[in-house]
Amino acid sequence: MACPERLAAAVTGFLDPLEGRRLFELAATASGRGPCLEIGSYCGKSAVYLGCGCRRNGGVLFSVDHHRGSEEQQPGEAYFDPALFDPAGGCVDSLPAFRRTLAAADLEDTVIPLVCRSTLAARMWATPLALVFIDGGHAFETAHSDYRAWSGHLMPGGYLLIHDIFKDPAEGGQAPYQVYRIACGSGLFDELPMTKTLGVLQRRA
Ligand code: MG
Repeated sequence: MACPERLAAAVTGFLDPLEGRRLFELAATASGRGPCLEIGSYCGKSAVYLGCGCRRNGGVLFSVDHHRGSEEQQPGEAYFDPALFDPAGGCVDSLPAFRRTLAAADLEDTVIPLVCRSTLAARMWATPLALVFIDGGHAFETAHSDYRAWSGHLMPGGYLLIHDIFKDPAEGGQAPYQVYRIACGSGLFDELPMTKTLGVLQRRA
């Protein structure tokens, strides 16, 4: 079985291999207790790491994304990728790339794509989760609504992971860090060591 680093290296996305390895290890630990869920599938780079961790336990990863691209991935914006633009639909569509990634990584029996806004997926959600990874839209309202929609579904001992934590505003956008601070201030989580820009919190019992 190929290692997740090698599989993920071929996938478009924004995730450091050390952060990916941490995702893999946390999913390998958590997925024995319940399902894992990520917000922000994009082309599947993080799903490869999380999914490979889940597969070890026969677990599952729900991967939520409307696949229309986040605010900064629209035409003319800083993270627009023409390869992900669907001319027929006149919009970004990252779902075909995501499906190719799942097939190439042999994760189609582990990862469950949810193609919708994360707040819609959360509307009737009732299953306790062992891990939630927030890496969707990076505008504050988007990241905060992802936190509000999903953090309450974490089981005691479950992991809340938030990507792109930049404590220095000169290094990156502040919304994920603001949400991280809100989570830390809630009294519901213990802070574990970060890996690069990956914030790791654990739900208290
Ligand atoms: Mg990210």
